[in-house]
Amino acid sequence: MSERGGGIHFPLGRPASPSGEAPALPPTSKRLIDPSRLERPLDSLRGVGRTRSAALAALGLRSLADLLERIPFRHENPVRLAKVAELRIGEEATVRATVKTIAVRPTRRRGLKVLEALVADESGTVRAVWYNQAYLADAFSNGPEVLLKGSLRRYGTLLSFVVTSHELLSSGEPSEGIHTLGLIPVYPASGDVSVRFIRSLLGSCRDEAQHVVDPLPSRVVASHRFPGRRDALLSSHFPASISEARASRKRLAFEELLLLQLALQKHRREEESDRPAVALPAPGTLAARFLRDLPFAPTGAQTRVMADVDRDLARAIPMRRLLQGDVGSGKTAVAAYSLVRAVEAGGQGAVMVPTEVLADQHAVRLGEQFGALGIRVALLKGSTRAAARRDTVRRLAAGEPMVVVGTHSLIQDQVAFGALRVVVVDEQHRFGVRQRAALFTPSGDDSWPHALHMTATPIPRTLCLTLYGDLDVSVIDELPPGRTPVLTRLFYDDNRDDLWSFVRARLDEGRQAFVVCPLIDDNVAVTAASASETFRSLTGGPLASYRLGLVHGRLKSEHKSEVMAAFSAGGLDALVTTTVIEVGVDVPNATVMVVEDAHRFGISQLHQLRGRVGRGAERGYCLIGADSAEGEARERLETFARTNDGFALAEADLRARGEGQVFGERQTGWGDLKVARVLRDQKILALARRTATSLLEGDPELSSPQNRLLADAAQVRFGGLTSWLDNV
Ligand code: ADP
Ligand code: MG
Repeated sequence: MSERGGGIHFPLGRPASPSGEAPALPPTSKRLIDPSRLERPLDSLRGVGRTRSAALAALGLRSLADLLERIPFRHENPVRLAKVAELRIGEEATVRATVKTIAVRPTRRRGLKVLEALVADESGTVRAVWYNQAYLADAFSNGPEVLLKGSLRRYGTLLSFVVTSHELLSSGEPSEGIHTLGLIPVYPASGDVSVRFIRSLLGSCRDEAQHVVDPLPSRVVASHRFPGRRDALLSSHFPASISEARASRKRLAFEELLLLQLALQKHRREEESDRPAVALPAPGTLAARFLRDLPFAPTGAQTRVMADVDRDLARAIPMRRLLQGDVGSGKTAVAAYSLVRAVEAGGQGAVMVPTEVLADQHAVRLGEQFGALGIRVALLKGSTRAAARRDTVRRLAAGEPMVVVGTHSLIQDQVAFGALRVVVVDEQHRFGVRQRAALFTPSGDDSWPHALHMTATPIPRTLCLTLYGDLDVSVIDELPPGRTPVLTRLFYDDNRDDLWSFVRARLDEGRQAFVVCPLIDDNVAVTAASASETFRSLTGGPLASYRLGLVHGRLKSEHKSEVMAAFSAGGLDALVTTTVIEVGVDVPNATVMVVEDAHRFGISQLHQLRGRVGRGAERGYCLIGADSAEGEARERLETFARTNDGFALAEADLRARGEGQVFGERQTGWGDLKVARVLRDQKILALARRTATSLLEGDPELSSPQNRLLADAAQVRFGGLTSWLDNV
């Protein structure tokens, strides 16, 4: 066996055992299996030079294994193999014929050329035409035998066989018919690499599939009647029937999701065994007082999640809980409860939030709530003065029981905690991986903190199970009582005036409004300029007689805090702002949300913004201005206007933008799924999860002979993910 170890890439190329012995031959094959052969780079194939291999690499195709694992996204419908004389007008068919004459002609459309050939078999002759492929003329000039796929058309009195795909049979290609006969696989291609080229490569390395090794234990394969991995790969490309292609894809998706679930669950088990946390005693009088003092009765959902948290905190392993709840569902109360539990147990609690504005808000609110309970609340953000910061840092290091609220400055300056028990990450999706990681380190007493991640970007349950299989999930699926749903209206350029007269009417009733301007090109300066511009045009125009404030990322933090405070207190009628208020800000009297250039926002982001209004008993309004929204963008806005259900919108977003992008970071942290699609493969995912759990229960290390390949495969395929998770 060759020693080509570097960059080993399961499932195709992994040697069976660390000693490098070839795996046992399956009973059906007498040939030697050498998985390392699949690690050969693609330029080892005929017809792939340096340019081509670079273009293939850009598509993520580097080795033979990559190629075999690139499952087609569909197959063309099979067509009949017909004699020339049997061709029927309008019907797609393939003919096997010989080229008699060839010519290139210009057409009436300028620039469009037609390649024309007379082709014949023993039954007759037909005129074959190719549009815009004059460059093929040379290849056809010596009268070769060909397979042509296309359909017969009538133009006036002329009959033409319009060719959509062809093959030269004299070229000695081993896989005759791959472009013209049967179920023809279609792959994502690029300007530099055609579908046809990818297909040809696959055709020419079909034999290499004999080196594929199956990581699934035979018991699992048998119990689900799955095809073996080798057959599944081959027939997902070149199936005999659609049902065979489906069965193959299903098996490969199952395998991928099983490896993912194994990696996640194994990681979780290991983490639990070597990260001790302090088990908190049962809730006592302080927690009870906190609940009694809440200005409202918690909803059923809030109570349920607090119970989830209590159960987690009672264990000597760190809580790893993701709390999802639509905007306005009352996640803050659950967070506050968790923090009280930390302090009641004599420890510390920390809340990390993504913006200074939100840090201010939490510090003020928690300060009031916790002050009454005798709990100290400190604020740490970029603009905190040195003396105050030093004092807080000292108390935290000393393990003094207290709560700290902060932005990422909480982690940037290496604040050391003496006894951190509970960490809450609010709007967790706004933080980078490394930022979140920094808080999850042991305290001075060597214990790990319990962690509650909160997100208002609802993650569809399926995606959640796939990507967050290592976290426990709680959902607040019930809004506090008495909310009237926000009304959403779209305004395009023709009725812009109506938008502002509507806003004026609400302001005249004593309500307040947000006017949000989009982040432009991710450029803070340009965005700030556009917000300032909007502010000027409103003060000089539609909102001239009202008190307006302006907040954007370029302003000094004290100034921002002042403007926000004035707005909260009702001293301003409207606040012109960038997305700094996207998350978490809670001003019940603000009932109007105007979003300018809304087509620049994603659905989920718009939903976040809409969640800023309608938080009190008054009805909220979300007014969407989108002058240049067309096509897909307009559809998106209309979907958004139709429903207030954040989960439904998240699913819509997921479908519209593709799975890779919505929860991008978590996915790009380790690379995309190759075969499985979490929305489409929900049932397979559930099966993979169950299978992973039962495999690990029977063999926690996956060290038995029948599971060893599986353990290797999970490590090779998703080991990057788990080491990444170690830091989350
Ligand atoms: P989010 O989940 O978006 O963080 P918040 O925690 O900010 O939501 O809560 C939104 C608003 O609802 C706040 O004004 C909060 O005081 C109020 N609220 C939370 N829970 C309840 C409840 N059970 N009953 C009534 N109002 C509640
Ligand atoms: Mg919140």
